[in-house]
Amino acid sequence: MIYCSKCGAQNEDNYYKCVKCEALLHESFGDMPYRVDEYVPDYLVWSILATLFCCLPIGIVAIVYSSQVNTRLRAGEIVEARENSRKAKMWCLIAVGSWGVVVVLAIVAAILGASFMP
Ligand SMILES: [Zn+2]
Repeated sequence: MIYCSKCGAQNEDNYYKCVKCEALLHESFGDMPYRVDEYVPDYLVWSILATLFCCLPIGIVAIVYSSQVNTRLRAGEIVEARENSRKAKMWCLIAVGSWGVVVVLAIVAAILGASFMP
């Protein structure tokens, strides 16, 4: 049992937050393998948007990494989850970036095309 230093409530040894006041029970998590409730964004919505509106093959790569994030989290593999989260975000940015390049090229082409009009 661990007693909360703030409110004195009893907590199980493996809890890292007080059940009553949510104060942290340990100063650091250096000795803990992972934090179960750590928020690792999966960027799934962004990946799907990237697939639909930007670039299909790049978006699919992002979706694959996104889906891995929650799989890894459920398995308690926080380092791998973070890594997949980072890659999903990177591929979303690449998809958006490539889409941006296409838009810029289209605008340039339109301007050049218009200037050649009689
Ligand atoms: Zn407490």
